[in-house]
Amino acid sequence: MKEEGKLPNQGNVIKILMINTNNMDETLLEIKNLTVQYKSQGMLGLVQLVHAVNNLSLSVKKGEILAIAGESGCGKSTLAKTILLLENPTSGEIIFKGNNIISANKSELKNFRKQVQMIFQNPYSSLNPKMKIYDTLKEPLKINTNLSNKEIDEVIKKTIKKTGLSEECLNLYPHEFSGGQRQRIAIARSLILNPEFILADEPVSALDVSIQAQIINLLKTLKQQYNLTFLFISHDLSVIKHISDRVAIMYLGEIVELGSTNEIFHSPKHPYTKALLSSVPKINGNNHKKIILEGDLPSPTDLPIGCKFHTRCPYCMPICRKKTPNEKNISNTHYVKCFLYDENP
Ligand code: SF4
Repeated sequence: MKEEGKLPNQGNVIKILMINTNNMDETLLEIKNLTVQYKSQGMLGLVQLVHAVNNLSLSVKKGEILAIAGESGCGKSTLAKTILLLENPTSGEIIFKGNNIISANKSELKNFRKQVQMIFQNPYSSLNPKMKIYDTLKEPLKINTNLSNKEIDEVIKKTIKKTGLSEECLNLYPHEFSGGQRQRIAIARSLILNPEFILADEPVSALDVSIQAQIINLLKTLKQQYNLTFLFISHDLSVIKHISDRVAIMYLGEIVELGSTNEIFHSPKHPYTKALLSSVPKINGNNHKKIILEGDLPSPTDLPIGCKFHTRCPYCMPICRKKTPNEKNISNTHYVKCFLYDENP
């Protein structure tokens, strides 16, 4: 079973697309002032406080793909795990469909976990190597539903086909598939409970470039066909440009700029966004002059005071070392946190 499966039949996609664009203003997930800190043992055994996510606010609209971009270590994955409550938030709110899940009771949490699923970076480590694909897909249905065995069988067969794989795959083990096929299986598992919201954490970065395009197209098709909402985390801006509706740029646990994909890629404002984009060759069909940032990403155990980007910013002003910039609206859909756009800093 080493051949990549075909994409699902896309015959009805255009019709579904027209139906699904109407609910894009409804907020599905709202994160308010979220802070995540944890203790970690540093060199010489010293315990340090890691400031992974810092007072972050963000909303995800129903039916959209919101991408979060930023360097490794900026807090993207901690944010994703905290939304799923795999990490404990220090403070703030995570509101899903109007309910703060941080204070949710057991049955509310169970319901939340059915509606929110995750796709991980490495499909091989996220699938149990000792379980046949059928059993991997059956497990969440047994735990979370009252379906009969016949109904479970139908759901499993229907779901694997959604990802472009055939029913024969169900009797095989993960090691019998290619990387792209394994990620399709991981996607099938994320769909099995019919969720509304999917967190995809670097879902294609472990795959070959040619396979990446197939998986990205599959996710886009599934989003349209099943009215899914995605929070898509990636360091790869060319992938983000292809898949997302909006993009949030994250730096040291904060969102420093957010806008539509068009605004971020064609009219970036924050010096960090500009530097990130300049590092992607020919992303807009032009050769960019690469902006080389001075220094490394500061440690999240020792955050700079003021604007957190000031230690690397080529436009740093005295105020940037003292005060934190607030959101400045560039348009209805685009904001930036930078004193360069603030008339009265
Ligand atoms: Fe650079 Fe100052 Fe803007 Fe921060 S606020 S990005 S340091 S110009």
